Amino acid sequence: MTKNIVILGSTGSIGQSALSVLRRLKDRYRVVGLSAHHNWRRLLLQAKEFEAAQVAVADAGAAQEMSQHLDSSSELLVGSEGITKLVAQDEVDMVLCGIAGSSALEPVVEAIRTGKTVALANKEVMVMAGGIITRLSRRHGAEIIPIDSEHSGIFQALRSGRPSEVQKITLTASGGPFYELSADKLASVTPAEALNHPTWQMGNKITIDSATLMNKTLEVVEAKWLFDLKPSQIEVLIHPQSICHGLVTFCDGSMVAQMGSPDMRTPIQYALTHPERLAAPTELPDLLEIGSLTFLRPDLEKFPCLKLGYEVAEQGGTTGAVLTGADEVAVELFLAQEIRFTDIYSLVRHALDEHESKSDPTLQDVLDASEWARGHCLNLARELG
Ligand code: MG
Repeated sequence: MTKNIVILGSTGSIGQSALSVLRRLKDRYRVVGLSAHHNWRRLLLQAKEFEAAQVAVADAGAAQEMSQHLDSSSELLVGSEGITKLVAQDEVDMVLCGIAGSSALEPVVEAIRTGKTVALANKEVMVMAGGIITRLSRRHGAEIIPIDSEHSGIFQALRSGRPSEVQKITLTASGGPFYELSADKLASVTPAEALNHPTWQMGNKITIDSATLMNKTLEVVEAKWLFDLKPSQIEVLIHPQSICHGLVTFCDGSMVAQMGSPDMRTPIQYALTHPERLAAPTELPDLLEIGSLTFLRPDLEKFPCLKLGYEVAEQGGTTGAVLTGADEVAVELFLAQEIRFTDIYSLVRHALDEHESKSDPTLQDVLDASEWARGHCLNLARELG
C-alpha cells in the first residue's frame, strides 16, 4: 500500500536528498506535502514534479510571491500555522523533518500528537524537548525513526540485541576541518574555512556545529532520548574517515557497527523502508582504497563544546533549549563575522551558567528558555563587540 508522506524543509540539504531517494520509491510513497522557509522557486519545481497537493511556506513574503505562480492543483499554506496544518492532516502517514534548528519543534510535536511516523533528521527538537517528545510519542503511538547518520547507525545496530543487553554506544565524529589545528589558531579561523567540511556536504548551521563539535554534543543529548540511555553509556570518538557512523557494545563484549558512505541518502532511505532494505542509493565505500579506519579520543581542551552535551543530558529540564537557542545565535553571529570561532563556546557556556533550569518543563517553558537564551547571547555579543 502506498503511504502518504510530507517533507518539511524540502528545499534544504536533507529535503533535496530525501526527494532524490523518494524518486526511486514511487511505488511506496506519495509525496502529498512539502514545506520550505523561503525558497519558493525551488519549492514550486518540487511541487510540480511530485504533484504535491499542498505546499507550505514559512516566510509570508515568499508565500505571497509563490501564490502568483502556483496553479490550482496545489494548495498554498502560509507561516508556521500552515506548516503545522500540513503535518496534521488525517491522510498523512509519515512526516520527514529536514528543517534545521529549533523551528522544527512545533511541527514535530504536532506530527506526533496526530500519530504520524516521524523520520527525524533534525536533532534540536530532541535536545530541546526530548522528554516531552518521547512521552507524547508513547501516548499517541507515533514512531520516531532517526535520520541523523550516527543515530541511524545505532538504530540499525541495536537490532542485534535487546535494550537491556546494551552496555554502551559510540557516536563517531569526523572532527571537522580544524581537528589538527593548534588551539591558538582556532580563534582566528574564518567562516569560509569553517564551512569547508572534509567529509560531509551539509547545510551551514550543521557544518559550523561540526567544526566546533557542538554537533556531536547535540547528538549526545539526542541519543539519550532516542535510545533511553544514561549519559555515561554514550561515548564519542573522533573517526576522520566518516565510514563507521555508530557502534553498539553489548554486554557480552560484541561490538556491532554500522558503516557506509558519508551520504545522507543511506540513512534517509533506511528510515523510509525500515525494517526492509532496498538497493543502495549511493556508491559503496571502497575499504581497500580507504585502507585504515582510525579512532581517536576527542580533545576536550581544544573543543570544549563536546562537554556541554553531557552536562545537558545529566541536568535535563530546560537546559537543552538553552543549549540549542544559544548555539543558533552564536553560529549566526560567527557567520556574520561579529564574533570569533572560539566565542561560540563562550556564549553558550555563559547562557547555560546564567540560566535557571525548570524541571519537568512544558512546551511553553522550552520555547521560553530558547527565546531567553537567544536574547542573552545577543546582548552578550553586543557587550563583547
Ligand atoms: Mg550526525
